Amino acid sequence: MLIEIQANAIATRTRILQMAAEQNALAASIDTGTGSEMIAIGTPLDPMVESLSGVLRIVTNHKAFAIASLDARGKSTVAVGDVVIGNGTPVIMAGPCSVEGRDALIAQAKLAQAAGAQILRGGAFKPRTSPYSFQGHGELGLQMLADAREATGMPVVTEVMEPDQVELVSGYADMLQVGSRNMANFNLLKACGRSSKPVLLKRGFSATLEEFLMSAEYIMAHGNPNVVLCERGIRTGDTAFRFNLDLNIVPGVQAVSHLPIIVDPSHGTGRRELVHRMALAGIAAGADGLAIEVHPDPDNALSDGAQTITPDALRHIVRRVHALSEVLAETEIEELGILEASA
Ligand code: PEP
Ligand code: MN
Repeated sequence: MLIEIQANAIATRTRILQMAAEQNALAASIDTGTGSEMIAIGTPLDPMVESLSGVLRIVTNHKAFAIASLDARGKSTVAVGDVVIGNGTPVIMAGPCSVEGRDALIAQAKLAQAAGAQILRGGAFKPRTSPYSFQGHGELGLQMLADAREATGMPVVTEVMEPDQVELVSGYADMLQVGSRNMANFNLLKACGRSSKPVLLKRGFSATLEEFLMSAEYIMAHGNPNVVLCERGIRTGDTAFRFNLDLNIVPGVQAVSHLPIIVDPSHGTGRRELVHRMALAGIAAGADGLAIEVHPDPDNALSDGAQTITPDALRHIVRRVHALSEVLAETEIEELGILEASA
């Protein structure tokens, strides 16, 4: 059940939370962005709540991902440091797959920034398919990311793999990344829900749209409304590609959820020569940004070199992304209504 209340209806809010507690139901809430609060309760409450003072609206036929859905509020924006995701201008996250070393990372961060990146990405804790592959520098890598932020002013996003690491990673990062392989690690999602840092939630590579949004709901229901979704490719039977970027999910998510969604054409293709066009395709599909793996010497990157582009390639992509985004914005008002009405 979703219950919308006025922001100043403190007594009513307390009463609703009490009623939820009496039923052992989880209660979560989100700011609607229009001066009210939407409370989700994990079980239907007595319909009399509608008559409590300050209650504006009750929604009972909402989606299972209640506070992540458009039933709860209009489009969200998420701030990462001073970079805002979801405000109409595509945000570019870029950097190496793995943090390799302090000086190397600072140099890479400066190159990525000069190419148009606004957020630095890089893994310190790496989920690798093989236990023999480089597993990341761990806390040392987090310190390197903090040094790169200091050197460039760019906020940093990095992966957290375990619930017990959330506090540690939150101490260094501006945004927590939950990787594809952990999208359904519910204890990790709950722990990220208790963090004050925004979360980049990557889609499990065989997750459905609903499963993806239910994972976002886990984070939000545990207290953290700042979730950005990331499509990073799904598994099909095709061995020509490491993964297949599923761009359906972008308008698919936007039709039912207010959360920003970005696209990762690096993991989504596995092939660096495909990154450029799939980045543009992601923006054309309506993505709020891109996450791209960049390294000055991709062939010698410690992980994911085959899908990693150079800073020079990034510069060209960013230029074309912004050009495309401007054309789309200019034509949006006249065309979107017609196209969606004919759907
Ligand atoms: C990454 O971003 O480097 C990464 C490991 O991503 P994913 O979880 O999408 O595989
Ligand atoms: Mn990678």
